[in-house]
Amino acid sequence: MEEIEITELCPDIWAINEMDKVTMYLINGTKTALLIDTGLGITDLKKVITDKCGEKRVMVINTHAHLDHNSGNNQFDTVYVGRFDEPYSHIPVGEQERRVMQEYYIDQIPVCETARQKWAPGIAGKVKTLKDGDIIDIGKYVFKVLEIPSHSIGSIALIEEHFQWVFTGDVLLTWEAWGHLGPGMLSPSVTLKEYRESLRKLTHYINEETKIFPSHGKRDNPHSCTQYILPSEIVYIYLEGITKIIDGKWTGDFYSCEFHDGLVKKFDVGGIVYDKSRIG
Ligand SMILES: [Zn+2]
Repeated sequence: MEEIEITELCPDIWAINEMDKVTMYLINGTKTALLIDTGLGITDLKKVITDKCGEKRVMVINTHAHLDHNSGNNQFDTVYVGRFDEPYSHIPVGEQERRVMQEYYIDQIPVCETARQKWAPGIAGKVKTLKDGDIIDIGKYVFKVLEIPSHSIGSIALIEEHFQWVFTGDVLLTWEAWGHLGPGMLSPSVTLKEYRESLRKLTHYINEETKIFPSHGKRDNPHSCTQYILPSEIVYIYLEGITKIIDGKWTGDFYSCEFHDGLVKKFDVGGIVYDKSRIG
C-alpha cells in the first residue's frame, strides 16, 4: 500500500487516500478546484491540486472539525467548515491530541515512520463558516451545503444535485460511525434522534442513482459499496437501524473507545456507536 494513493473516480473527481485511513476528495470545476477535507496533513495538498487541476482558485472545505479531516488545514490561508464546528477548528493540536491521533491513525501502519515525520497538523490561517443552503459554484459543478448534525454537531454534507453526488464526511460508513462523542477535544456528536433527523433531511436529496462519497472506506466492502462510493440505500439502512435503537427494539453492545465509551450496533451495512444516555 502506498502512503498516499490518488484515484480518479470519474472525470473531475479524485479520491486522495491517506494510508487507507482517511479519504479526501478533489473536484475540478472550471473556475475553482474544490478540496473536501485536508486529512491527516501528510499529503502535499497544493501539489496534488495543481497536478490534477492546474493553476486555479482553490476552495477548501472541512466536512467537520475532527483531526483526521482537518490536520492539513495549515497548508491553506482559508478553510471553510460548518458553523457549529467552527469553534473546534481553532484548537491547536496539543500533546494529548497528538498522542491519541498518532496511536489511532499512524502507529498501526507499516509506513508509519515516514508518515510520522511528515505529520505536522495545524490550523488554517483563517476559518470561515458555511450554513444550510449556502451555494458553492465552482464552474460546471454547483454544491449546496446541508447541515447534518450527527457524528459531530457541525457536520455538513455537500450536494451536487445535477450530477447526484453527495459528500457525507463520517455520517455514513461501512462500519460503525461514531455518534457517541461527548464534550472534549473533538466536536461532539448530537443525540441519536437528532442524528436521525439529519438522515431524514438527506433523503430529500438522494435517489437510486445518487453516489455517496464517505470520508473513510475499506478495500473490502459489503453489497455494492466500494472504498470511495456508497449506494444511496445506505441512508435508509442507517435510518432503519437508528429508529430501531430509538424505539428500544435494538440495543448495542459495549464499545470501548479512548475518547468516550458507548454502545455499538452493526447494521447490514455500517452501524452506529451511540451513548445510551443521549438517545434523545
Ligand atoms: Zn473521520
